[in-house]
Amino acid sequence: MDLQPPPITALVLDDNRNTRRRIVSDLEQSGLFHRITEAVDGLDGFKQVSENAPDLILCDLEMPRIDGLRFLQMIRSKEETKDIPVLILTGRTERSLRLKGLSEGANDFLLIPYDPEELIARVKLHLKSKELEKNLKKRNMELELLTHKDPLTGAFNRRYLSMSLDSEIMRHARTGEALSLLMLDIDHFKDINDTYGHHAGDLVLQRVTKRLTEGLREYDLLARYGGEEFVVVLPSTSPTEAEMVAQRLLQGIHRLTFSDTLAGTAVTVSIGVISHSANSVISAAELLSRADTALYRAKQSGRNRVVTYDNGLSTVSATA
Ligand code: GH3
Ligand code: MG
Ligand code: MG
Repeated sequence: MDLQPPPITALVLDDNRNTRRRIVSDLEQSGLFHRITEAVDGLDGFKQVSENAPDLILCDLEMPRIDGLRFLQMIRSKEETKDIPVLILTGRTERSLRLKGLSEGANDFLLIPYDPEELIARVKLHLKSKELEKNLKKRNMELELLTHKDPLTGAFNRRYLSMSLDSEIMRHARTGEALSLLMLDIDHFKDINDTYGHHAGDLVLQRVTKRLTEGLREYDLLARYGGEEFVVVLPSTSPTEAEMVAQRLLQGIHRLTFSDTLAGTAVTVSIGVISHSANSVISAAELLSRADTALYRAKQSGRNRVVTYDNGLSTVSATA
């Protein structure tokens, strides 16, 4: 998909029509903006900014109804508009006014009459630093996500699981809905490593993760719990539904086909299922331990199957 960058926009606030037109014309000539809009005072400007936040604002100080300083305070107090760069353009030369403007959050100050080349140079500088800040925020978000994910498979890691499981349990205690959890382990995975090598084993882990993700809803959580062991948290899911999900995942994995050195390899998993109604509070550790008990039973009774934890007595359900 070819994603176009969003158009760059500017808003010019000035009650003096001639000054406003001159600023707009200089900005137009710079070719930096796709769209430039105008406002006759702070109130008009504030309405426009609230409807459509521009990338840059050039603002006069003295204006009727709402002046430049008040306008600045208003946009700086709103989350959606607080980071828009604002350049003050004014004929007022007092140092105190300049200091007040900067302390209210103006990014720059330019005296009228201004030098058009200097104006454009400063505009470029502010657009550039806004862009850098945006990229930095995006990068920080990506990094934060990375610290929650397992690098090999892209599934959430164990640390993230334990954080979200606690809050999921509390949420379920509040809403009274059932919470289900699956613990899933690849059968005889050591044999795959021993026969085809560690690299092939890694590939199997990646394919299994992808197949599991495909079989889950967006709000289910898939985490790599250990080497070839995964945990799936299924919010608002009844025991019957959880078993159906487990069976679907089991069959999905069983149908995976591999090529090259792994051609003909059949991969199966064993799954332990636990569902908990919100009538009583259960700890994350207890939930995981019960799922592990059910998984252990699935392994013991022949692998490639789903076993549901049922008051300490695991019942064996159908294999793939
Ligand atoms: P079972 O059916 O009882 O689960 O048998 P298994 O062979 O799957 O279980 P076992 O615990 O004996 O072996 C798990 C193997 O998984 C051993 C370990 O070297 C391997 N393993 C763990 N993490 C990774 C990994 O990131 N990549 C690869 N390739 N292998 C891994
Ligand atoms: Mg295993
Ligand atoms: Mg294991």
